Amino acid sequence: MSEFAYREGELYCEDVPVARLAEEFGTPLWVYSKSHLLTRLKQIQDAFTDVDPVICYSVKSNSNLSILQVMAEAGSSFDVVSGGELYRVKRAGGDTSKIAFAGVGKTDDEIRFALDNEILMFNVESEPELDRISTVAASMNKIGPVALRLNPDIDAKTHQKTTTGKKGNKFGMDYEKASQLADKVLADPNLELRGIHMHLGSPILSTEPYEKAVKRGQEIVGEMRAKGHDINWINLGGGFGISYHTDEGPDASVYADVIVPGVKAANCRLALEPGRYITGNSAVLISQVLYTKHEGGKRFVIQDGAMNDLMRPAMYDAFHRLWPVKTNVEMPLDVEKEIAGCTPADVVGPICESCDYLAKDRALPPMERDDYLATFSAGAYGSAMSSNYNSRPRGAEVLVDEGEYRLIRRRETLDEIIAHELSCL
Ligand SMILES: *Cc1c(COP(=O)(O)O)cnc(C)c1O
Repeated sequence: MSEFAYREGELYCEDVPVARLAEEFGTPLWVYSKSHLLTRLKQIQDAFTDVDPVICYSVKSNSNLSILQVMAEAGSSFDVVSGGELYRVKRAGGDTSKIAFAGVGKTDDEIRFALDNEILMFNVESEPELDRISTVAASMNKIGPVALRLNPDIDAKTHQKTTTGKKGNKFGMDYEKASQLADKVLADPNLELRGIHMHLGSPILSTEPYEKAVKRGQEIVGEMRAKGHDINWINLGGGFGISYHTDEGPDASVYADVIVPGVKAANCRLALEPGRYITGNSAVLISQVLYTKHEGGKRFVIQDGAMNDLMRPAMYDAFHRLWPVKTNVEMPLDVEKEIAGCTPADVVGPICESCDYLAKDRALPPMERDDYLATFSAGAYGSAMSSNYNSRPRGAEVLVDEGEYRLIRRRETLDEIIAHELSCL
């Protein structure tokens, strides 16, 4: 996270003081480091070169068009989970021929849109979905490229709302079902089996789940080939963890050490769908203190960043580091410890919900009205999940590139919030 560092008590993104951006564009404001995005993508590209990977950046982690442009320019492909995301990739000038399309509920329109754009493969999640892809492909005189999404029943030890590869999740299918569907594909002139897909959950900080998954993948590819499939892809999804707390997130090469040998042994190419690993630490959310109060024996910092901006604490009990943008107290590596000059505070937003908070019982230096606050690791599932709840306009986004910066999403206006609504009078 060296792209976000304090210089003489003031937070910088690369070479730009963050407070200057907050003054120019207002708050809440997302500030991205282009260098971080590129560095993290390159770490994955380099770590997996031995298995000729296709890195499908997971659009759902952050779908801003400029971020997609940065990814496309650096040679990334894309993982999409809706027709809307595919549309964004096209608008950003991305190559659609290496796209993986995931999700349990693809509509006919979305399937048609993807076939029209010659994507690499659909990650198929059920038999009726496979049947729809076949029907739609037949109607277009095309062959639907598919990967079967396995649920390998591996516990990736994530938050219960972000585990996806355990028995009983809505995602994927067990091996018996996959084997049946593989037979069906073989008999269907409008389908072609290209690979198998597994996405275990997120964020995953240990390599063990991937090691198990790739082993399973290797066996299954062998079995599919024995059936007569020309299958060449193992797609291990996303889920690589990052450092939200201190430096707990492993480097991509650590995951590669357990994944690459298995993919090589299977004589396959590797697809990955990293989102958070690339975007997670690429941004801070800047907010501004409105009020402070002491009530019920607690200190509250009320600021203008809320759960409609950053939903992760409310939705996943997620932890984000936060620290004043300007302060004489040095931010320690471990912000959960007791810190000299700090007292615990709940950092809350203006939304009328008790779950509207960015941090609870967090040691923070004194803060007063108008102070800027930085919430770290906000690039993934931050702006992408933001909403207009409480009729709050979504914040602006700025991309910093060394000493320069560009507005990549302007702040919404109140008129835009109500633009789709029709009068009944
Ligand atoms: C969400 C998702 C990803 C991305 O997960 P990250 O943790 O952001 O890397 C990849 N693949 C699929 C199928 C997903 O649903």
